Amino acid sequence: MTPQPARLVLLGHPVDHSLSPILQGAALRAAGIPLRYDAVDVEPSSFDAMLSALIAERVAGNVTVPFKIRMHDRCDRLTPVAERVGAVNVFWVDDRGRLVGDNSDVGGFDRAVRDLIGGAPHDLSVGVVGAGGAAAAVLAAVEAWPGCIAQIFNRTPERAARLSERFRSIARAVDDVGAIAGAQLVVNATTVGLRDESMPLDAALIAPGSAIIDLVYRRGETAWVRELRARGHRTADGLGMLIEQGALAFETWFGRPADRGAMWASIAQSRH
Ligand code: NAP
Repeated sequence: MTPQPARLVLLGHPVDHSLSPILQGAALRAAGIPLRYDAVDVEPSSFDAMLSALIAERVAGNVTVPFKIRMHDRCDRLTPVAERVGAVNVFWVDDRGRLVGDNSDVGGFDRAVRDLIGGAPHDLSVGVVGAGGAAAAVLAAVEAWPGCIAQIFNRTPERAARLSERFRSIARAVDDVGAIAGAQLVVNATTVGLRDESMPLDAALIAPGSAIIDLVYRRGETAWVRELRARGHRTADGLGMLIEQGALAFETWFGRPADRGAMWASIAQSRH
């Protein structure tokens, strides 16, 4: 458990689309904790000064695009998983005033996959589109699954090559998107589909029987998820991962279980 934070924030730019204030607000109310969780839109040029002020105030919280790697670099101490991913989405100030960073996206993704396939993943081929922070969290999860391997395709091939090198025992970069489409589990870890109906990978290419996770979430799900479900695939968008990463963050800050039912209900009530 971490020292009780003075308040909770989400740092990002932009943050107006985030559901984290809704689901963390629900978890705080369910636990009877009288703290606020506010989304703070931080200009990238103000990030360092803002963070110094928040540390002095003993604020804890989450970090989202585009600050996860900067936060990793600023932390005085990292959990092993945050170190492995190279990105931080959960932070707090410890009792010695040190900024500590964790990564709950890995656990969130792991839970979303278990829910999708109905058990613990093993001996799976995983195809990942994207090579940013979210893709790194996906590979950190895959690395812990017995017998699993991953192939990575990215618009900018050099980034995929660098990421696969960091996870070289399980990952390989590919320049043929068909290799991704043939995997048993296919993951969209790009931002494609966030704001429009575009798709990260032609749905018609994906092998019958592949399970699909789109880390992107938006009202009414993404076009990719809708299309693949219509074609008979098992699919999930990023909502399950979002709620689980939030629940894990809550448990780190407060040392007690998060009410996942209340978090899901808050999203349903927000008409997401
Ligand atoms: P990031 O580090 O900025 O990486 C973005 C990735 O998207 C890169 O691979 C980038 O390719 C690719 N990309 C962007 N525009 C593209 C386009 N038009 N065509 C093809 N590829 C494109 O972002 P991130 O932190 O990894 O996040 C990626 C996504 O995952 C975001 O939508 C985020 O919301 C989502 N996410 C969801 C959860 C959750 O809980 N559900 C958690 C974490 C992240 P290049 O390298 O070529 O630029």
